[in-house]
Amino acid sequence: MTPLNHGSLTSDNRAAERKQMVEKQLVPRGIKNEAVLKSMLRVPRHLFVPDRVQAFAYHDGPLHIGEGQTISQPYIVALMLELLAPAPADRVLEIGTGSGYAAAVLSRLTAMVYTIERLANLADKARARFRALKYDNIEVRVGDGTRGWPGEAPFDGIIVSAGAPVIPRTLREQMKPGGRLVIPVGDKNHQELLLVRRKPDGGFTEEISEVVCFVPLIGQEGWDS
Ligand code: SAM
Repeated sequence: MTPLNHGSLTSDNRAAERKQMVEKQLVPRGIKNEAVLKSMLRVPRHLFVPDRVQAFAYHDGPLHIGEGQTISQPYIVALMLELLAPAPADRVLEIGTGSGYAAAVLSRLTAMVYTIERLANLADKARARFRALKYDNIEVRVGDGTRGWPGEAPFDGIIVSAGAPVIPRTLREQMKPGGRLVIPVGDKNHQELLLVRRKPDGGFTEEISEVVCFVPLIGQEGWDS
């Protein structure tokens, strides 16, 4: 598997909008990771949203994807991936597949992406998109992501795309020494985006990036449904 070579997915008429998205929304806000920018230039975000909002796919904001859920603003996807800093050989866990867009962008940066979604309908649609677009290094599972993916742990990176009340203990335990976890933590309206690192001695450090607003992480180590 060569993670940075998934063939041409830009054979569509929205490439100019993606370029604008990168140049006007991401670079001016300080996103510098070249691999993240390149991946977001190529992944067809408009194919990850419902037809009724396709026209707005490259706008500077989140969009509704059904079931009361959202695809995150492009800048927030880029920021989270920049904080995660995935390396080409890494195995990464994502919690909150949603549309599948962030997992698709991530799949071009790293060896393997494991993604968990609690809503089967969204997971099925994301899986169909990955198949159609030939993203073959993504595995999707339906379930409670706060419990992680024990059979594939530990991970080099974990990215949580929903707002948690606290950092789930299970996810900390599924990080490799040297691994990174990016997670919004706070109340149901606003969260602080945290970068948690697991030190070689097993301890953890935490850094706050910025204030964000995510749908709630619902599960055993998240919010009640
Ligand atoms: N990364 C997604 C994308 O690119 O479209 C956006 C994710 S959306 C902001 C948050 C998702 O997290 C929702 O689809 C929601 O159903 C899911 N979710 C919430 N709690 C979850 C849990 N415990 N396990 C797995 N998925 C969860």
